[in-house]
Amino acid sequence: MSDQDNRAQMVVIGAGPGGYAAAFMAADLGLKVTLIGREEHPGGVCLYSGCIPSKALLHAAKVINEARHAANWGVRFSSPRIDINKLRAWKNDVVGKLTGGLGLLTKQRSLRYIRGEASFLDSHNLRIEKHEGGEETLTFDKAILAAGSRPATLPGRALESPRLMDSTGALELATVPKTMLVVGGGYIGLELGSVYASLGAKVSVVEMTPSLLPGVDRDLASILARRIESSFQSVMLNTKVAGMKEEDRGIRAQFEGAEAKQAEEVYESVLVAVGRKPNSDFPGLKNTRIELDARGFVKVDAQRRTTDPDIFAIGDIAGEPQLAHKATHEGRVAAEVIAGKRVVYEPRAIPAVVFTDPEVAWCGLTETRAKEEGRNIKVARFPWGASGRALTLDRQDGVTKLILDAESGQVLGMGIAGPGAGELIAEGVLAIEMGALASDVMLSIHPHPTLSETVMEAAGSFYGQSTHIHRPKR
Ligand code: NAD
Repeated sequence: MSDQDNRAQMVVIGAGPGGYAAAFMAADLGLKVTLIGREEHPGGVCLYSGCIPSKALLHAAKVINEARHAANWGVRFSSPRIDINKLRAWKNDVVGKLTGGLGLLTKQRSLRYIRGEASFLDSHNLRIEKHEGGEETLTFDKAILAAGSRPATLPGRALESPRLMDSTGALELATVPKTMLVVGGGYIGLELGSVYASLGAKVSVVEMTPSLLPGVDRDLASILARRIESSFQSVMLNTKVAGMKEEDRGIRAQFEGAEAKQAEEVYESVLVAVGRKPNSDFPGLKNTRIELDARGFVKVDAQRRTTDPDIFAIGDIAGEPQLAHKATHEGRVAAEVIAGKRVVYEPRAIPAVVFTDPEVAWCGLTETRAKEEGRNIKVARFPWGASGRALTLDRQDGVTKLILDAESGQVLGMGIAGPGAGELIAEGVLAIEMGALASDVMLSIHPHPTLSETVMEAAGSFYGQSTHIHRPKR
């Protein structure tokens, strides 16, 4: 290693979708960049133990469910025989291909990638304990802190048991338990609960608020909730786990709350998915001028600069929503700022997708938020029962809606529940970012027969001009 290697114009700490995208962008803009990550290749939680492995397993779940569903149209398959080892190997192979690809992209960009644990010595120096052995002090002009988040735990003394898992453990897919309790009816609980339910586990979910996916518009979440109620063993809302203890047969969980269906029950496995906590207890942070907000996120300005002027922060550590694509965008903005460009992070719409069956997706202004803020909006809805494509999929329970400025018809938000919602939502993001009016969406020819037509028809319904629903303008 030359002396030059101990200096970086820019160092990125954390190699998830925020960190590696920032490092790649900075390298593309001509900066000398060092990227620090924990795993063999960049990828972070999203690729190694989050978004990607969960989506591989959700794909398997979808195939299983579709095959079952096909009996309704006269196509009957025998019950699936699940080779858990092969399924796990396939999921790991997907992760390996993607992270290996990122390793290659890192080399192609001549980035220096260090596997290790970093800590701040001060505002321009990091100590790195390398996984291969040895230590290094790295001096940097600018840093981007992209150290992410970790699963939150239940309050009180944690039970130590291999039967008690967080999302990382659940994604390892060691076995399929006969019974599983999911604590938390949010993104992770419903996605991973759905995977295990499809693989044959009897899954129960306990959620402390009055509904699954709290915060999401009720008309969207309720479509998913209906399916979850039929595919899960039980859904307990307004309920908390009061205690857990291990027995020979599994973990005995005690419940408390208005809608607890039983006082206690024993489960072979328990998955805790009660949110994620920023890794802002990052070592050596007190040696810098970085400040945290009341919720423990690193404070950043519109360019993602922390209160220490040469250190930026992005992704889960720098505030909600804790989504990979938000981190990526922030990372690219921060890299551009460091390269001297006059840019800020100001998205009008950040899409969110719950990859369950049906998928639930939304972006921009939600109906719930618009009502809370007393905004003058109109909601243009298109029920999938009127979509030819949805009927050919036997999925008429979906809905597409646009949240529009009541006067101008400008698209402010979009929400969808139904298969493929996660792909369809991108049109809403583009419409919002481009300042499109409902008429722009209505007058853009959408291919027939596709679910994308539901977006065009929802826009048409704002003017009382949707072809496939009769809802005259009042
Ligand atoms: P979440 O915030 O989505 O859901 C946590 C749920 O747990 C909430 O509904 C909350 O009310 C409930 N809860 C909290 N404490 C509880 C308790 N003691 N008992 C019962 N219920 C309790 O969090 P998550 O599902 O853990 O996911 C964490 C984050 O990861 C998400 O916020 C999201 O940003 C990200 N994520 C995104 C995706 C995706 O984009 N598809 C998938 C997985 C995770």
